[in-house]
Amino acid sequence: MDTILFLSHTEQDGKLPRAGLEALGAAKELAQALKATLVAGVFGKVTQPAAAQLAGTGAARALAVTGADFADARYATDAAAAEALSRAAAPTIVIAPGTSRLSRVLPAVAHRLGGRVDTHATAVAAKDGAPTLTRWFYRQRMEATLKRTERPWVVLIDGGCHAAVVPDGGAPALEEVPVAIGDAQRRTRVTGFKAPRSDAQTIRPDAKILFVAGAGWTKKQADGKPHVEEAEKLILGFLGATKASLGSSKSLVDLSGEGNAVLTFMSHLNQIGQTGATPRHPKGLATCCHGEEPHVVGWRFINERRAVNLDPNCGWARGKADVVYVADAFEVVAKVNALLK
Ligand SMILES: Cc1cc2nc3c(=O)[nH]c(=O)nc-3n(C[C@H](O)[C@H](O)[C@H](O)COP(=O)(O)OP(=O)(O)OC[C@H]3O[C@@H](n4cnc5c(N)ncnc54)[C@H](O)[C@@H]3O)c2cc1C
Repeated sequence: MDTILFLSHTEQDGKLPRAGLEALGAAKELAQALKATLVAGVFGKVTQPAAAQLAGTGAARALAVTGADFADARYATDAAAAEALSRAAAPTIVIAPGTSRLSRVLPAVAHRLGGRVDTHATAVAAKDGAPTLTRWFYRQRMEATLKRTERPWVVLIDGGCHAAVVPDGGAPALEEVPVAIGDAQRRTRVTGFKAPRSDAQTIRPDAKILFVAGAGWTKKQADGKPHVEEAEKLILGFLGATKASLGSSKSLVDLSGEGNAVLTFMSHLNQIGQTGATPRHPKGLATCCHGEEPHVVGWRFINERRAVNLDPNCGWARGKADVVYVADAFEVVAKVNALLK
């Protein structure tokens, strides 16, 4: 019989990250489908608050590695904690959230355990009594279903792919797993965090809306002149009011490299598409963006798509958007911002 280990770090407050709750939901469902034993393993500076989040998952055991050594993301100590939890649970399958912290260490942990790892899984399921996973290849164009015979099989699940588990009932007692940490594993020290100001941080994976700006925002407008400063104000006004995530077309982010007037808050990290990102948001609004195929493939996981373009023949109008507003995006966004105020 399979033993499934749900494995996650905790956040600074001792709770599971959101992606952890989603992976826990996937692990719980897989355990039910395979009639497998579910074991939970968490590590961090504080772990007790995570116990309450494990309530109702049917975990036969809840293991923890707790202590100041496990407070911050550090390869040596994170790998040691994950390995100790895995050895204590002796799982055939490990399900973990694809956070940067776990993505960095779990391939090595799988190797230490003599198992195999798969990353960026979007789903796990039972097929003919055997576990399978689903993931995308070739820039999200091909979806594959995989099986493996090697065990333990470590699976990192991408965030946003599974509903988060809702705790139900009393918290299980945490069983502490001892891990000896020496000075050699403490050589790397986290001395602080540097993050952009929250209003300068335009990529928001949890946002309900993706707002895409295209190169049209920097092009000459009806009066024969570009209006880049006005474009900046309108876009930032929309982002500030809606807390939408900001995406871009390739043409717009490439303009800065070519010495053109550009939107100062835009970087290649915002690029959506074949050679950019494929984010997941319930809704998307494209503005001044033509909707060419290499851009639109990045919209694969956007459920409801709308676009504002002056050109009634733009790519969005050819079956790539649910609604196309043939209009001037400067006017539309100014009006929307005024309404949002
Ligand atoms: C190998 C390869 C990979 C690529 N990868 C990517 C990728 O990952 N992502 C990506 O985005 N592209 C990618 N591209 C480029 C892609 O094909 C397009 O060139 C690009 O997406 C076009 O960007 P755009 O729509 O912003 O600009 P444009 O094509 O210049 O379109 C600007 C649009 O703005 C509209 N507009 C102008 N003013 C207004 C206004 N006032 N109101 C409303 N609309 C207005 C115009 O009508 C026009 O449709 C790739 C290309 C190749 C060959």
